[in-house]
Amino acid sequence: VSTAAGYNRVMLKISGEALMGTQGFGLHPPTVRRIAQEVKSVHDLGVEICMVIGGGNIFRGLSGSAQGMERTTADYMGMLATVMNALGMQSALEDEGVFTRVISAIRMDEVAEPYIRRRAVRHLEKKRVCIFAAGTGNPYFTTDTAATLRANEMNCEAIFMGKNGVDGVYDMDPKTNPEAKRYDSISYDDVLAKRLKVMDASAIALARDNSLPLIVFSLDEPGGFRGVLAGEGTYTKVH
Ligand code: UDP
Repeated sequence: VSTAAGYNRVMLKISGEALMGTQGFGLHPPTVRRIAQEVKSVHDLGVEICMVIGGGNIFRGLSGSAQGMERTTADYMGMLATVMNALGMQSALEDEGVFTRVISAIRMDEVAEPYIRRRAVRHLEKKRVCIFAAGTGNPYFTTDTAATLRANEMNCEAIFMGKNGVDGVYDMDPKTNPEAKRYDSISYDDVLAKRLKVMDASAIALARDNSLPLIVFSLDEPGGFRGVLAGEGTYTKVH
Protein backbone atom coordinates (compact mmCIF):
# COMPACT_ATOMS: atom_id res chain seq x y z
CA VAL A 1 0.00 0.00 0.00
CA SER A 2 1.62 3.16 -1.23
CA THR A 3 -0.57 6.11 -0.31
CA ALA A 4 -2.81 7.16 2.54
CA ALA A 5 -5.79 6.26 0.39
CA GLY A 6 -4.21 2.93 -0.50
CA TYR A 7 -3.70 3.22 -4.24
CA ASN A 8 -1.11 1.02 -5.89
CA ARG A 9 -1.98 1.46 -9.57
CA VAL A 10 -3.93 4.32 -11.09
CA MET A 11 -4.92 5.80 -14.43
CA LEU A 12 -4.39 9.55 -14.93
CA LYS A 13 -6.54 11.00 -17.70
CA ILE A 14 -5.90 14.53 -18.89
CA SER A 15 -7.26 16.31 -21.92
CA GLY A 16 -4.98 17.48 -24.66
CA GLU A 17 -5.85 21.04 -23.69
CA ALA A 18 -4.11 20.50 -20.33
CA LEU A 19 -0.82 20.63 -22.27
CA MET A 20 -1.40 23.87 -24.17
CA GLY A 21 -1.09 26.30 -21.26
CA THR A 22 -2.33 29.74 -22.26
CA GLN A 23 -1.33 29.26 -25.90
CA GLY A 24 -4.68 28.16 -27.31
CA PHE A 25 -3.12 25.38 -29.38
CA GLY A 26 -0.49 22.65 -29.26
CA LEU A 27 2.03 21.88 -26.54
CA HIS A 28 3.43 24.48 -24.14
CA PRO A 29 6.70 22.97 -22.89
CA PRO A 30 6.68 24.59 -19.39
CA THR A 31 3.11 23.31 -18.86
CA VAL A 32 4.04 19.82 -20.05
CA ARG A 33 7.01 19.90 -17.65
CA ARG A 34 4.82 20.97 -14.74
CA ILE A 35 2.43 18.06 -15.32
CA ALA A 36 5.38 15.70 -15.65
CA GLN A 37 6.54 16.89 -12.21
CA GLU A 38 3.07 16.21 -10.79
CA VAL A 39 3.28 12.68 -12.19
CA LYS A 40 6.79 12.24 -10.82
CA SER A 41 5.72 13.25 -7.33
CA VAL A 42 3.15 10.43 -7.34
CA HIS A 43 5.57 8.01 -9.01
CA ASP A 44 8.02 8.76 -6.16
CA LEU A 45 5.45 7.28 -3.74
CA GLY A 46 5.80 3.95 -5.56
CA VAL A 47 2.41 4.18 -7.25
CA GLU A 48 2.20 2.52 -10.68
CA ILE A 49 0.93 5.06 -13.19
CA CYS A 50 -0.95 4.70 -16.46
CA MET A 51 -1.77 7.80 -18.48
CA VAL A 52 -4.11 8.68 -21.30
CA ILE A 53 -3.84 12.13 -22.86
CA GLY A 54 -6.46 13.52 -25.22
CA GLY A 55 -5.76 15.27 -28.49
CA GLY A 56 -8.09 18.27 -28.42
CA ASN A 57 -5.19 20.76 -28.27
CA ILE A 58 -4.27 19.63 -31.79
CA PHE A 59 -7.25 18.03 -33.50
CA ARG A 60 -10.71 16.67 -32.70
CA GLY A 61 -12.56 14.34 -35.04
CA LEU A 62 -15.89 16.02 -34.46
CA SER A 63 -14.63 19.48 -35.41
CA GLY A 64 -13.02 18.03 -38.53
CA SER A 65 -16.22 16.29 -39.59
CA ALA A 66 -18.24 19.44 -38.82
CA GLN A 67 -16.12 21.13 -41.49
CA GLY A 68 -16.95 18.45 -44.03
CA MET A 69 -14.15 15.97 -43.45
CA GLU A 70 -15.07 12.31 -43.51
CA ARG A 71 -15.63 11.32 -39.87
CA THR A 72 -13.44 8.23 -39.70
CA THR A 73 -10.50 10.03 -41.29
CA ALA A 74 -11.00 12.97 -38.93
CA ASP A 75 -11.04 10.60 -35.95
CA TYR A 76 -7.78 8.98 -37.07
CA MET A 77 -6.27 12.47 -37.21
CA GLY A 78 -7.48 12.97 -33.62
CA MET A 79 -5.90 9.68 -32.57
CA LEU A 80 -2.62 10.73 -34.18
CA ALA A 81 -2.80 13.99 -32.21
CA THR A 82 -2.87 11.96 -28.98
CA VAL A 83 0.34 10.22 -30.07
CA MET A 84 2.09 13.58 -30.43
CA ASN A 85 0.95 14.57 -26.94
CA ALA A 86 2.07 11.24 -25.52
CA LEU A 87 5.54 11.67 -27.02
CA GLY A 88 5.78 15.19 -25.60
CA MET A 89 4.84 13.92 -22.16
CA GLN A 90 7.25 10.97 -22.42
CA SER A 91 10.08 13.35 -23.18
CA ALA A 92 9.18 15.59 -20.21
CA LEU A 93 8.84 12.61 -17.84
CA GLU A 94 12.18 11.17 -18.89
CA ASP A 95 13.77 14.60 -18.35
CA GLU A 96 12.51 14.24 -14.77
CA GLY A 97 14.15 10.80 -14.56
CA VAL A 98 10.93 8.77 -14.85
CA PHE A 99 11.21 5.88 -17.32
CA THR A 100 8.19 6.03 -19.61
CA ARG A 101 6.77 3.91 -22.41
CA VAL A 102 4.38 5.17 -25.05
CA ILE A 103 2.06 2.36 -26.10
CA SER A 104 -0.01 2.97 -29.20
CA ALA A 105 -3.35 1.40 -30.09
CA ILE A 106 -2.40 1.94 -33.75
CA ARG A 107 0.80 0.23 -34.85
CA MET A 108 3.65 2.61 -35.59
CA ASP A 109 6.64 0.63 -34.44
CA GLU A 110 9.29 3.28 -35.03
CA VAL A 111 7.42 5.72 -32.81
CA ALA A 112 5.81 3.74 -30.02
CA GLU A 113 5.32 0.20 -28.78
CA PRO A 114 2.24 -1.67 -29.94
CA TYR A 115 -0.33 -2.42 -27.24
CA ILE A 116 0.26 -5.87 -25.79
CA ARG A 117 -1.54 -6.17 -22.47
CA ARG A 118 0.90 -8.42 -20.64
CA ARG A 119 3.83 -6.36 -21.78
CA ALA A 120 2.20 -3.17 -20.51
CA VAL A 121 1.52 -4.82 -17.14
CA ARG A 122 5.19 -5.80 -16.96
CA HIS A 123 6.24 -2.18 -17.58
CA LEU A 124 4.01 -1.08 -14.71
CA GLU A 125 5.47 -3.73 -12.41
CA LYS A 126 8.90 -2.33 -13.27
CA LYS A 127 7.62 1.13 -12.28
CA ARG A 128 7.65 2.55 -15.78
CA VAL A 129 4.91 5.05 -16.53
CA CYS A 130 2.79 3.77 -19.42
CA ILE A 131 1.17 6.37 -21.68
CA PHE A 132 -1.55 4.77 -23.76
CA ALA A 133 -1.74 6.65 -27.04
CA ALA A 134 -3.99 6.64 -30.12
CA GLY A 135 -7.11 6.23 -27.99
CA THR A 136 -8.84 2.90 -28.41
CA GLY A 137 -7.63 2.71 -32.01
CA ASN A 138 -11.23 3.03 -33.18
CA PRO A 139 -13.09 6.00 -34.63
CA TYR A 140 -16.28 7.21 -32.91
CA PHE A 141 -14.68 6.84 -29.46
CA THR A 142 -13.00 9.33 -27.18
CA THR A 143 -9.94 9.22 -25.01
CA ASP A 144 -12.25 9.01 -21.96
CA THR A 145 -13.34 5.61 -23.22
CA ALA A 146 -9.70 4.72 -23.93
CA ALA A 147 -8.75 5.68 -20.36
CA THR A 148 -11.58 3.58 -18.92
CA LEU A 149 -10.80 0.62 -21.17
CA ARG A 150 -7.09 0.60 -20.37
CA ALA A 151 -7.74 1.22 -16.67
CA ASN A 152 -9.89 -1.91 -16.62
CA GLU A 153 -7.37 -3.94 -18.61
CA MET A 154 -4.48 -2.83 -16.37
CA ASN A 155 -6.50 -3.44 -13.18
CA CYS A 156 -6.15 0.17 -12.07
CA GLU A 157 -7.88 0.94 -8.78
CA ALA A 158 -9.25 4.25 -10.01
CA ILE A 159 -9.20 6.78 -12.82
CA PHE A 160 -7.96 10.23 -11.80
CA MET A 161 -9.28 12.84 -14.17
CA GLY A 162 -7.23 16.02 -13.94
CA LYS A 163 -9.20 19.10 -15.02
CA ASN A 164 -8.33 22.71 -15.74
CA GLY A 165 -10.42 25.41 -14.13
CA VAL A 166 -12.68 23.07 -12.15
CA ASP A 167 -12.09 20.86 -9.10
CA GLY A 168 -14.79 18.23 -9.44
CA VAL A 169 -18.29 17.53 -10.68
CA TYR A 170 -20.89 20.27 -10.12
CA ASP A 171 -24.68 20.24 -10.36
CA MET A 172 -24.47 23.20 -12.81
CA ASP A 173 -21.64 24.73 -14.79
CA PRO A 174 -19.62 26.55 -12.10
CA LYS A 175 -18.10 28.89 -14.68
CA THR A 176 -21.50 30.42 -15.45
CA ASN A 177 -23.49 29.72 -12.23
CA PRO A 178 -22.05 31.07 -8.96
CA GLU A 179 -24.70 28.95 -7.17
CA ALA A 180 -23.26 25.70 -8.55
CA LYS A 181 -22.44 23.07 -5.92
CA ARG A 182 -19.70 20.46 -6.11
CA TYR A 183 -20.54 16.87 -5.29
CA ASP A 184 -18.14 15.16 -2.88
CA SER A 185 -19.40 11.89 -4.21
CA ILE A 186 -21.99 10.84 -6.78
CA SER A 187 -22.97 7.58 -8.49
CA TYR A 188 -22.46 6.90 -12.18
CA ASP A 189 -26.21 6.33 -12.46
CA ASP A 190 -26.88 9.84 -11.13
CA VAL A 191 -24.27 11.33 -13.47
CA LEU A 192 -26.12 9.70 -16.39
CA ALA A 193 -29.61 10.56 -15.09
CA LYS A 194 -28.69 14.21 -14.48
CA ARG A 195 -26.72 14.36 -17.75
CA LEU A 196 -23.71 15.84 -15.98
CA LYS A 197 -20.76 16.39 -18.29
CA VAL A 198 -18.13 14.17 -16.73
CA MET A 199 -17.21 11.67 -19.44
CA ASP A 200 -19.13 10.49 -22.46
CA ALA A 201 -21.86 7.92 -21.85
CA SER A 202 -19.93 4.94 -23.23
CA ALA A 203 -16.99 5.65 -20.93
CA ILE A 204 -19.32 6.03 -17.95
CA ALA A 205 -21.06 2.74 -18.73
CA LEU A 206 -17.74 0.94 -19.03
CA ALA A 207 -16.52 2.33 -15.68
CA ARG A 208 -19.82 1.70 -13.90
CA ASP A 209 -20.22 -1.87 -15.13
CA ASN A 210 -16.74 -2.71 -13.88
CA SER A 211 -17.01 -0.80 -10.56
CA LEU A 212 -14.09 1.43 -11.46
CA PRO A 213 -14.17 4.65 -9.43
CA LEU A 214 -13.42 8.01 -11.05
CA ILE A 215 -11.88 10.89 -9.14
CA VAL A 216 -12.30 14.30 -10.76
CA PHE A 217 -9.86 16.90 -9.46
CA SER A 218 -8.12 20.11 -10.49
CA LEU A 219 -4.76 20.02 -12.20
CA ASP A 220 -4.27 23.73 -11.55
CA GLU A 221 -2.99 23.45 -7.99
CA PRO A 222 0.65 22.35 -7.78
CA GLY A 223 0.75 19.10 -5.81
CA GLY A 224 -2.92 18.47 -6.61
CA PHE A 225 -2.48 14.97 -8.03
CA ARG A 226 -0.40 13.78 -5.09
CA GLY A 227 -2.78 15.43 -2.62
CA VAL A 228 -5.90 13.91 -4.06
CA LEU A 229 -4.27 10.48 -4.07
CA ALA A 230 -3.86 10.86 -0.33
CA GLY A 231 -7.50 11.91 -0.04
CA GLU A 232 -6.67 15.60 0.51
CA GLY A 233 -8.01 18.72 -1.15
CA THR A 234 -11.28 19.00 -3.04
CA TYR A 235 -12.47 16.51 -5.62
CA THR A 236 -15.50 14.46 -6.62
CA LYS A 237 -15.55 10.71 -6.40
CA VAL A 238 -17.84 9.07 -8.95
CA HIS A 239 -18.59 5.45 -8.15
N1 UDP B 1 -10.37 9.50 -30.98
C1 UDP B 1 -10.94 8.40 -31.61
N2 UDP B 1 -11.00 7.20 -30.95
C2 UDP B 1 -10.53 7.04 -29.68
C3 UDP B 1 -9.97 8.17 -29.02
C4 UDP B 1 -9.90 9.38 -29.70
O1 UDP B 1 -11.40 8.50 -32.74
O2 UDP B 1 -10.59 5.92 -29.13
C5 UDP B 1 -10.22 10.76 -31.73
C6 UDP B 1 -11.49 11.61 -31.76
O3 UDP B 1 -11.57 12.20 -33.03
C7 UDP B 1 -11.20 12.67 -30.70
C8 UDP B 1 -9.71 12.86 -30.84
O4 UDP B 1 -9.21 11.56 -31.13
O5 UDP B 1 -11.88 13.86 -30.97
C9 UDP B 1 -9.02 13.44 -29.61
O6 UDP B 1 -9.46 12.81 -28.44
P1 UDP B 1 -10.39 13.56 -27.37
O7 UDP B 1 -11.40 14.42 -28.06
O8 UDP B 1 -10.89 12.52 -26.43
O9 UDP B 1 -9.33 14.49 -26.65
P2 UDP B 1 -9.51 15.49 -25.41
O10 UDP B 1 -10.86 16.14 -25.54
O11 UDP B 1 -9.46 14.64 -24.15
O12 UDP B 1 -8.35 16.41 -25.52
